[in-house]
Amino acid sequence: MTYTKHLGKKNAPTPQNQPIPGTVANSAGGYAFPVDDWKRLDRFLVLGAEGGSYYASERKLTIENAQAVIRCISADGKRAVARMVEISDSGRAPKNEPAIFALALAFAHGDPDTRHAAAEALPKVCRIGTHLFHFAAYVDSLRGWGRGLRRAVANWYLNATPAQLALQAVKYQQRDGWSHRDLLRLAHPVPRSEEQGTILNWIAKGWESVEETPHPMDGARVIWAFERAKTADLPELLRLIEDYQLPREAIPTEKLTEPKVWEALLPHMGLTALLRNLGNLSKLEVLAVNNSNPALSFVLKTLSDPNKLRKARVHPVEVLTALLTYQQGHGVRGKGEWTPVPKVVDALDAAFYASFGNVEPTHKRLMLALDVSGSMAGGMIAGVPGLSPRVGSAAMAMITAATEQNAFFTAFQTTLTPLSISPRQRLDDIVKRISGLPFGGTDCSLPMIWALEKKMAVDAFIVYTDSETWAGKIHPSVALREYREKTGIAAKLIVVGMVANNFSIADPDDGGMLDVVGFDTAAPNLMSDFIRE
Ligand code: CA
Repeated sequence: MTYTKHLGKKNAPTPQNQPIPGTVANSAGGYAFPVDDWKRLDRFLVLGAEGGSYYASERKLTIENAQAVIRCISADGKRAVARMVEISDSGRAPKNEPAIFALALAFAHGDPDTRHAAAEALPKVCRIGTHLFHFAAYVDSLRGWGRGLRRAVANWYLNATPAQLALQAVKYQQRDGWSHRDLLRLAHPVPRSEEQGTILNWIAKGWESVEETPHPMDGARVIWAFERAKTADLPELLRLIEDYQLPREAIPTEKLTEPKVWEALLPHMGLTALLRNLGNLSKLEVLAVNNSNPALSFVLKTLSDPNKLRKARVHPVEVLTALLTYQQGHGVRGKGEWTPVPKVVDALDAAFYASFGNVEPTHKRLMLALDVSGSMAGGMIAGVPGLSPRVGSAAMAMITAATEQNAFFTAFQTTLTPLSISPRQRLDDIVKRISGLPFGGTDCSLPMIWALEKKMAVDAFIVYTDSETWAGKIHPSVALREYREKTGIAAKLIVVGMVANNFSIADPDDGGMLDVVGFDTAAPNLMSDFIRE
């Protein structure tokens, strides 16, 4: 009697619905390798759990991820907080909510050293008022307001320059049932200068009167302009916007239908705000196509400036969302209609690639394989409506396709199909193309099996998947080893994880296999390094 005959072997063909050493049951009735808590932390920080996945509700996926984050905090709180800062501050994630939530968990579950690190990290993770309000709402439901936490919030206000503080105060007034006023009441920051005192006083109770002449303190002038804007006529409003760089949030709603107001806002509008308002700008004909429309030239120039994209921490998912919304000519929930300007669509397409920064080409033979099975159409990346893991992986794959000459595109479920896709095609066309492919079961070993059958030389397989594989006769890691043996090519495998779940088809004990997180802006360069090394 040999007991091992009942266990699958690490290097022998074993169906995916039976385990091989090191694997655990996935959600689909198959077996895959579990990812460790630190990788799970990364997946959560980048992909979030909003909207859930095909297999897990938002609630279940959030709880699972929170538990993994708490285990990281208990194992090494400082390392966990450092990771949150790293991913949040560099703009690697499409949304900042997961990092804010994880930081609140560090305050709630960390030891004193971890809480100290979390207090230091607060302004780096919560960079604007809205982030701070989200944080307050999370903390309020997870734990009480201890002294250390109040001090951290007080410092958030006191360490900002007066001009920054004033802008935050007029721009982000309240969110999630929290306002700056509520936070000041809890944190009691003691102003360090008269200017700071004047601004904090306005936040806490407003000013008694607003003079006709600008406020004598530099730092408080944007607040003065904000107060004046409430009753200003159009010419005065335009002057206020120009002279004090008033943000859109400071403009009375009824004035936002004036094209001239938007033209005045444009030069100092942040890139994220610009991306969100492109439809609006088209609707009001601010972006009307003619040879001498300075607003249109400005928008096109801004969208094609890689330095501006980088400095504004614009994430590719924001650009992709803007592209998909703008080109369809109407907003979500039917908010207005417009005629898309083709040049703007092209500029967004280019901005998507530029927002990943420079990626060094590997010049290797690559096979890109998109999992288009049914589960990949469930849930959404970072809570973006319409951005399923299936659509998202197509966009991710385009980054590699655009930088490599030797990338071969395929899509698979229980069969594999080569795709003729060129990086010269526009992103929205590719997304449409992928959305139209048939669904089916999942067999992640197909890219390797197919390449072997077709005698195709591949230095690296890049598989975009949720690793919920179950339908194949052989595990993907075993299929890769077989491919290596039979072809003599030391082929690598990169798994681009598109869902914040616990699974990977990459064997963690095999140095030739790597896990990265889909839509981590650092992923394309990590992949390139790994393939070249
Ligand atoms: Ca699947």
